[in-house]
Amino acid sequence: MTEVINPATEELITSVESHSAEATKDAIGRAAYAFTRWRTTAPAERAELLRAFARAVDADIDNLAALEVAEAGHTIGNARGEAGNVRDVLNYFAGGVERHLGDQIPVAGGVNVTFNEPLGVVGIIVPWNFPMPIAGWGFSPALAAGNTVVLKPAELTPLTAIRLGELALQAGIPDGVFQVIPGKGSVVGQTFTDDSRVAKIVFTGSSAVGEKIMADAAKTMKRTTLELGGKSANIVFDDADLELAAATAPYGVFDNAGQDCCARSRILVHDSVFDRFMELLGPAVSGVVVTDPSREEAEMGPLISAGHHESVAGFLDGVDIAFTGSAPSGAGYWMAPTVVLPKSPNDRIVTEEVFGPVVTVQRFRDEAEAITMANDSPYGLSGSIWTRDVGRGLRVARGVDSGALSLNSHSAVRYSTPFGGFKRSGIGRELGPHAMDSFTETKNLFIATD
Ligand code: NAP
Ligand code: MG
Repeated sequence: MTEVINPATEELITSVESHSAEATKDAIGRAAYAFTRWRTTAPAERAELLRAFARAVDADIDNLAALEVAEAGHTIGNARGEAGNVRDVLNYFAGGVERHLGDQIPVAGGVNVTFNEPLGVVGIIVPWNFPMPIAGWGFSPALAAGNTVVLKPAELTPLTAIRLGELALQAGIPDGVFQVIPGKGSVVGQTFTDDSRVAKIVFTGSSAVGEKIMADAAKTMKRTTLELGGKSANIVFDDADLELAAATAPYGVFDNAGQDCCARSRILVHDSVFDRFMELLGPAVSGVVVTDPSREEAEMGPLISAGHHESVAGFLDGVDIAFTGSAPSGAGYWMAPTVVLPKSPNDRIVTEEVFGPVVTVQRFRDEAEAITMANDSPYGLSGSIWTRDVGRGLRVARGVDSGALSLNSHSAVRYSTPFGGFKRSGIGRELGPHAMDSFTETKNLFIATD
């Protein structure tokens, strides 16, 4: 059994069964059996079952959101949005089932067509930072494309995933098609990776575990989609709307207490506007409402666990802090939003993913240096560019080696557009119009007519 703790209060919520390797293999066996029926379910029927699942999620939004506030410390506003995201992503990919087209290719002597064949059993391994959306981004296109799914939530945050598994069954998704298997990464997750009946792993989490999964998956030639860490830049040019850039910068990094792979955790500011930007950033950071996440006005909650709090605090040893926001005292893994002025670009606070409410601010002198600094990272997941010069915005966007950029905003992930990383931020893309392709194999068929 694993204890699930409320990170805002440190109180025990409940205990959840941790599955053994044997139990995990049994679940994979059920998923493999269910695949034979699910893959041949008529497209319109499969689409309707996914829409029924979406309706069940919609009817349960308040309950799912309350679970996420309790187990993950997400603000109630974010948690409702995350449950709504699961519904929307299910509906988006339900719309793809009947539109996942193959090609008809001109050839001599016959007809050539391609089919998108489902892979089989897909193993999805989810981290604790966004338990609902990250699960849905994997299982919705996987199921839509005709695969069956086994899903392992993070040990710290299993409750919303378990509830989504119940809702799927209630909605009529057949037994074995979508199973949620709580347990340890080293047991359940490792079994997914090693079992030859699992055709693909979708993993979101740390780069270290991602590398191990990629290496272990190679032994059975599994397909992988990996969404790993980030250290994204928020680049502010001298011609930007500085007021807006400063007012929004805290929300580009401190949302979800900075436990976001897309966090814009390195602010790069043009030398000539650096002082003015810092003057504007101070009050913006103070204005972030850090409080009990179940309160409607909460903009930031606690960190996920005592261990993670210790890890984030460790990054602040010996650094120069420009200013901090506020945080509650007492029980809970609280940390105030913190703005750091690094002493050197090689400081750990600049080079490593902190995954907490901490941001660094550095100066650059020109466009080329801004791009070089943004790219001076093993990661390349997201990033923002602030300038009123559209040409410059486009040049910089093309120059930054990153998978999901926004110009004059800190765009969140949209389900209708592709999401994923360059370099050590991962491999593959989720969401968007082509996501179902990564859950199918292309089969080519030539039919002789002569
Ligand atoms: P993690 O260890 O990579 O965990 C992510 C998921 O992988 C969890 O479900 C975990 O299970 C599972 N897992 C662990 N070892 C595994 C293995 N050998 N095989 C298969 N699955 C395995 O991440 P973490 O320890 O929670 O967080 C550490 C750091 O990773 C964070 O501080 C942050 O920098 C980064 N991170 C990034 C993201 C992201 O969105 N890219 C998300 C979370 C964390 P357990 O529940 O048993 O751990
Ligand atoms: Mg870990």
